[in-house]
Amino acid sequence: MATTDSDHLDIESIRADFPILEREFGGNQLVYLDNAATTQTPDPVIDTIVEYYRETNANVHRGLHQLSQEASVAYEDAHDRLADFIGASGGREEMVFTRNTTESENLVAYAWGLNELGPGDEIVTTEMEHHSSLVTWQQIGKRTGAEVKYIRIDEDGHLDMDHANELITEDTQMVSAVHVSNTLGTVNPVGELADIAHDHDALIFVDGAQAVPNMPVDVEAIDADFYAFSGHKMAGPTGIGGLYGKRHLLDSMEPFLYGGEMIRHVDYEDSTWNDLPWKYEAGTPAICQGIAMAAAADYLDDIGLDKIQRHENELAQYALERLDEFDDIRTFGPGPGTKRGGLVSFDIEGVHAHDLAEILNDHAVAVRAGHHCTQPLHDKLGVAATTRASFYIYNTKAEIDTLIDALDDARQLFA
Ligand code: PMP
Repeated sequence: MATTDSDHLDIESIRADFPILEREFGGNQLVYLDNAATTQTPDPVIDTIVEYYRETNANVHRGLHQLSQEASVAYEDAHDRLADFIGASGGREEMVFTRNTTESENLVAYAWGLNELGPGDEIVTTEMEHHSSLVTWQQIGKRTGAEVKYIRIDEDGHLDMDHANELITEDTQMVSAVHVSNTLGTVNPVGELADIAHDHDALIFVDGAQAVPNMPVDVEAIDADFYAFSGHKMAGPTGIGGLYGKRHLLDSMEPFLYGGEMIRHVDYEDSTWNDLPWKYEAGTPAICQGIAMAAAADYLDDIGLDKIQRHENELAQYALERLDEFDDIRTFGPGPGTKRGGLVSFDIEGVHAHDLAEILNDHAVAVRAGHHCTQPLHDKLGVAATTRASFYIYNTKAEIDTLIDALDDARQLFA
């Protein structure tokens, strides 16, 4: 287990927990800078997965046998653990496990949006949303007649809060905002947006996919009505994510998916629903993944989310500094010295992002190239695609230097 001193991460000991980082490609050691897409998995989480399948595997909620009891307790406790991880004092009743952030978004859009929205209503979101929220609200808007409005971003990639104040009115039913932008790295003032939304009797949904893994999150301090995240971006497995919802909202909403596990009583005419959160977890859930996501939360808490945030910000600032040395490189999002998430998207004049990523891959440097599921934002920025380097607890400044050296190669190839 990684240990840390009072201020900084003990990177060497953290890296020792991630066996995948030792992989080499073409004689070069992997430099994994695609963490905003998916983070790597540490030994304690891998061990939890192996142990679960070796010792505990059974279906939950149903069996009276010992294995099922143990699996059920571990799976249910995992909900409490994740609730606590993001500051939800209501425990499991406010923590629904989903497949990922995208499913959490859709759960709210279908279960709340389809029933509550109609012509004349408005959904206010931002120009920097991930498609998981942008496309979902756009399509729910089309189906219900509600109008979707977008809060502008300024030159530096910050939200224009005057515009937010203009757009959020008595017609607004839902404000939906990304906490940390996966393209710009901007940390949005979601608490302030929540206050504005609530002043107008609207709800707020926060997409925390890039926040929960990387900084301390307190959904009650934000006063979020809904808050979504994914396990695979926080050192946990794929196939699992979470949706926090205020209890009275989760109580009053219709289920999203129907079927087994989510019912209390069924007859041929009608059905009633199980307690929270099971009402929203139809069918056999991702049991092992849920338990492993709780192990990931333990792992991150042991390191300390405030230290993780500081480390990632330091790496982002260093990357910005190094990239700014080159006249032909344009970086996006808040400039140096401004608080930002641990990622930097950039563009090299004359080199397509996909070509660049391929050349970086030849150096075993893994980055993301494309529109990062923020196509309208890329249209606004005037670029078809960008290259994104995103950092996590095991990354170092030396790895950013390797990235910069590899960029030089690309430049020479395309010059
Ligand atoms: N929102 C943001 C800000 C993201 O970065 C991502 C993942 N790139 C998502 C939502 C979607 O996450 P998932 O694919 O796990 O549903």
